[in-house]
Amino acid sequence: MPHPIVRFAPSPTGAIHIGNARTALLNCLYAEKHHGDFILRFDDTDAERSREDYAAAIEVDLAWLGIVPDLTLRQSARTSLYDAAAVRLRAAGRLYPCYETAEELERKRRLQQARGRPPVYDRAALALSAQERAALEAQGRRPHWRFLLDRKTVRWDDLIRGASHVETGSLSDPVLIRADGSYLYTLPSVVDDLDCKVSLVIRGEDHVANTAVQIELFEALGGEGAAPRFAHHNLLASASGEGLSKRTGALSIGGLREAGVEALAVAACAVQIGSSAALHPVASLRQLASELDLAQLSRSQARFDLAELEALSARTLHGFDFEAARERLAAHDVVGAKAEPFWLAVRGNLRVFLDVFDWWRVVEGEIAPPEQPAESEFLAAAAAALPPEPLDATSWSAWTAALKESSGRKGRALFHPLRLALTGREDGPELAALLPLIGRVRASARLRGRVA
Ligand code: GLU
Repeated sequence: MPHPIVRFAPSPTGAIHIGNARTALLNCLYAEKHHGDFILRFDDTDAERSREDYAAAIEVDLAWLGIVPDLTLRQSARTSLYDAAAVRLRAAGRLYPCYETAEELERKRRLQQARGRPPVYDRAALALSAQERAALEAQGRRPHWRFLLDRKTVRWDDLIRGASHVETGSLSDPVLIRADGSYLYTLPSVVDDLDCKVSLVIRGEDHVANTAVQIELFEALGGEGAAPRFAHHNLLASASGEGLSKRTGALSIGGLREAGVEALAVAACAVQIGSSAALHPVASLRQLASELDLAQLSRSQARFDLAELEALSARTLHGFDFEAARERLAAHDVVGAKAEPFWLAVRGNLRVFLDVFDWWRVVEGEIAPPEQPAESEFLAAAAAALPPEPLDATSWSAWTAALKESSGRKGRALFHPLRLALTGREDGPELAALLPLIGRVRASARLRGRVA
């Protein structure tokens, strides 16, 4: 297979959510797996709703997810290409001017519905004579332009849904150009996909009807066989069953980031959800790419559950080796010889990454151990029995075995007062790993109830 070229084409009209991230990731990981190119294209021809700050925020979100486009394009800068395509379509008789107002179209639709007919545009404008058009224009009406569909069965072999077809006879001729001359999404998308030699379009199944129209457009502009391949993935719904929307900001990537969810977990969840494999943590986007198999994606709606993502995020953290955490630890001054053993000791107890700094204070900073008056004698004896430095991985078991012997305590009675005094917490990482990091001096002071 030649190197594929794929693209993610958000309209910058809001913050991207996990469903959009799914589309972005399926494309970029497909490119990664098959050594192809991944294009980020902002579909910003709707000047009213598109905003530069949304585009910038989408770039930040993608970068946070680890998605690096090979090329970034903005449709607003490519109008001359669309104009040229429109000229060719007009010349071929595939683009025709229409003058109905929104109200007139609505009235036609109601009438059709009342007669039990499908609400398909009746092509009345095709029948207008040059004089009739001139008369309408003289009234101040500006035309919008529709693409003349072939009204045929359009077939494609969908990489996710398998053999697919749509009867374009059941669709209205789509408006490609608004009365103000601006382009709707349909034509620019096809022109750009042709111009960029996009070979596969992976997008949500809400675009299936567009695909049929666009295949006709690809052929009108590029000839038979000009259309790329298509893969339509299922859409994500929230746990309560609602769809996700860019406009409401539901489950936005930025919101998940602020909640401390790991980027790699968001990526894994976005890709794995609704596939036959259960959600599982991955060590890298590369691993996620190697596991990607479009044919394995399920066709039924996938429910997104935040609690599941949070659990996956914690499991993702638990699996990070030191290298994966080093830079983020260093950014908070967790450096030096202790940093690696510290990370390995505490990672399994983290819910979100920032929890790590509470544990760093336990091993490297000061804590005030809670008062345990009933245990003071036992804790003083424990302090006296602490083995000499250097403490190592065996110190804890040697020390507590000796304490068990001398105090006659065991189980919780033995361990709980020690954990509370040493860490100030009811639970946490293995003390065998923490004790050498806390060190003898701090441990001894805390066992004696001092702030240390
Ligand atoms: N701008 C379109 C959207 O956000 C792109 C669809 C496509 O991938 O072609 O839905």
